[in-house]
Amino acid sequence: MNAATKPRSARKIAEEAAGFGRTSDDRADTGGCGANGCPQRGSIDLGGSGRFLCACHAMVPSEQWPAVTHAIRQHGWMLDIVRDVKAAGCEWRRTGALAWSIEPNMAPDPRETQALYIARLLQDFEFRVGARATKPQPLLPQRTWPAMQGAAA
Ligand SMILES: [Zn+2]
Repeated sequence: MNAATKPRSARKIAEEAAGFGRTSDDRADTGGCGANGCPQRGSIDLGGSGRFLCACHAMVPSEQWPAVTHAIRQHGWMLDIVRDVKAAGCEWRRTGALAWSIEPNMAPDPRETQALYIARLLQDFEFRVGARATKPQPLLPQRTWPAMQGAAA
């Protein structure tokens, strides 16, 4: 009896279903980030290695991956907010403001569009998990240089 025909124990089957023992190669097949244990999808392949990483893991050296994975798992609530803001339709400002009532600087800026606000939330997520050095400010629509000079005056 070889490994392929040997019956698997119920425990082994349960572990496989839960994703234990999966390697990075297995994860690549399912679209997951190549960093061990990362729950995010992998979409960035640096250097054409065939190993796709999420936006967070792609930004940091591999020795920091376990810490970033841990932080990503602790910040799932933030991705829930992103999902809610995306789904809120014309109520997205109210949804964002309510979600961040204890952190008002994270509420939507009056000049931010929904798309720019979602982009900022994702950048802030990267900052909070250690994949971005600076905390992003509200992302404002592009303006012409004279308009920017006028706004500063
Ligand atoms: Zn990742």
